[in-house]
Amino acid sequence: MDTARHTGKIVIVTGAASGIGRASAIRFAAEGGSVFGFDINESGLQETQKLIAASGGKCEIIYGDVTIQADVDRLVAAVGSRIDVLANIAGIMDNFRTLGEVDDATWDRVLDVNLTGVMRLSRAALPVMIAQGGGAMVTVASKASLGAGASGIAYTASKHAVIGLVKSTAYFYGTQGIRSNAVLPGPVDTNIGTTSAPHSEWAMQRAHLSMATLTKSAEPDQIASVISWLACDEASNMNGSVVSADGGWATA
Ligand code: NAD
Repeated sequence: MDTARHTGKIVIVTGAASGIGRASAIRFAAEGGSVFGFDINESGLQETQKLIAASGGKCEIIYGDVTIQADVDRLVAAVGSRIDVLANIAGIMDNFRTLGEVDDATWDRVLDVNLTGVMRLSRAALPVMIAQGGGAMVTVASKASLGAGASGIAYTASKHAVIGLVKSTAYFYGTQGIRSNAVLPGPVDTNIGTTSAPHSEWAMQRAHLSMATLTKSAEPDQIASVISWLACDEASNMNGSVVSADGGWATA
């Protein structure tokens, strides 16, 4: 960890109440950043803030939903006239429902959070970054951005599509100092799978075939470290990159 890497930087982290988002908020704060954590989970956000405060870091929390434009606008207004880093981490799974099983509500919600939510917040942060001469966006995609054996259809589609969003942003705004990159984790020990909604058992069994080539699940900080690096000045020539952080799973 480089404790000076983000000194003086203003950093937005979505999904900061849990898992990779919490680990990233903790890491950005430990590396000198002033963190604004955003999430729909209020108690989880408060816990993240406590953890950061206990080690002397700075973290403000804003409760909201990435799919609601008014919440996104409230976040950007609360952060103010500078945003150095936007870490788009909030995301949800789809209970492994395949084409024959997916319902409209699951499809719409997964696409709304994992794709449209990223677009809404990135679009809102963009003018602030352009006005200050640049900024770094890091979006958490997935091994499901590259193939189909890691989730159901809605999640796979959302994570494929978000790569297009990341690349389009890099292509059109790189000349204005905006860097936009994606991190693609494999399995990570977080709360993402903990839903009571029914899962597609046969799809999960089939997915286990591709999971046989896995090494092991990662800890959230193993992904946070990659996010932090892509956001820092040392990664100044990284733009439009799609970086796997999955212990080699994508090579199978
Ligand atoms: P997690 O469930 O532990 O954390 C996700 C956070 O996002 C939660 O705190 C949740 O409240 C928040 N969130 C969900 N919907 C939101 C919304 N509409 N608005 C604001 N916040 C919202 O899961 P995680 O594994 O840490 O997931 C983080 C990211 O990593 C996601 O984009 C996920 O797709 C991706 N990812 C996770 C894994 C894995 O195995 N855990 C693998 C690949 C990619």
